Amino acid sequence: METQILGCSRGSLARAKQYIEEGEIVAFHTETVYGLGANAFSDEAVLKIFALKGRPSDNPLIVHVHRDYDISALIGGEPPYAAALRAAFLPGPLTMVYPSAGKVSKYVSCGLGSLAVRVPSSPTAQAFLREVDLPVAAPSANLSKHVSPVTARHVYDDFNGKIPLILDGGACTGGIESTVLDCTGEVPQILREGLVTREMIASVAGDCLVYRLRAGERPKSPGMAYKHYAPRCKTAPCRSAAEAAELYRAELQAGGAPCILAERGVAEELSGYDVLDLGGTGEEMARNLYALLREGENRATLLIGVEPRLRGGVMAGVMNRWKRAFGETS
Ligand code: AMP
Ligand code: MG
Repeated sequence: METQILGCSRGSLARAKQYIEEGEIVAFHTETVYGLGANAFSDEAVLKIFALKGRPSDNPLIVHVHRDYDISALIGGEPPYAAALRAAFLPGPLTMVYPSAGKVSKYVSCGLGSLAVRVPSSPTAQAFLREVDLPVAAPSANLSKHVSPVTARHVYDDFNGKIPLILDGGACTGGIESTVLDCTGEVPQILREGLVTREMIASVAGDCLVYRLRAGERPKSPGMAYKHYAPRCKTAPCRSAAEAAELYRAELQAGGAPCILAERGVAEELSGYDVLDLGGTGEEMARNLYALLREGENRATLLIGVEPRLRGGVMAGVMNRWKRAFGETS
């Protein structure tokens, strides 16, 4: 199968709609990362996503809809705080988990009894979702465990020949996946941190919990239990420029090609080395992280990550991905 990368046009949207109606998979731009979309009503199409990605069968998918799509038939009701959060943050990088009405394919939620819904703000995603006018089940458009894709090229690198179409909307401006928020309880609870922060949610809903997986417990959001976001080269986490320089020299001596990923100040300190600048603010680091992890794996045998020191706001989401790409630093 030939994989086409097309910008948003009447022709490409019509083609995307046809593919989705035929049970095919279409990758599309969103403001967070690229998604791998299928008709959420079709068992066959949804199962195709799991097969293509090599995704574990207990890791549920998020359903994507356009801003005017009426989700009330898909969900079993919503608490008042959820309606307020929708008004405040949607369309945008916030996924809301509701009791499921059982209308979409059972493979979307992997038997959880809940349904995750997202309304992306990317104009490309909106145009695509409006054209198909169906709920589109879509995980990130990367092979399972690999780094999430933030350009059409990244999607192509993982799925060339496997899907017919990538709707190209340029580089993703958000850069990390949506915040996943459980809206089935009395108080909203973050299952996965992202660009919509706990503080932002609490300012609208009055309160917001953050779910922490305890050892031995079955996770509320199964995806959080998996190794993820891993570059294909060796990785080495560390905490300082000096430590990074030492690891760098050892790799050079062993005949390898090291590369360092570090936040702006540290990257400047290491200007004589092959270094990738993650950025100076939380938003910059979110936007750059996946693109630089992919850049690093393409040009290095060892990617050395100097753990960013910045905290607060979107850094909770950035650090969650960082730790799962590099492992915990002791
Ligand atoms: P991805 O689309 O690859 O970013 O993964 C979707 C994330 O949303 C995973 O971490 C899932 O575990 C989570 N998710 C999807 N549906 C649900 C749900 N019904 N309940 C809890 N978490 C969910
Ligand atoms: Mg993913």
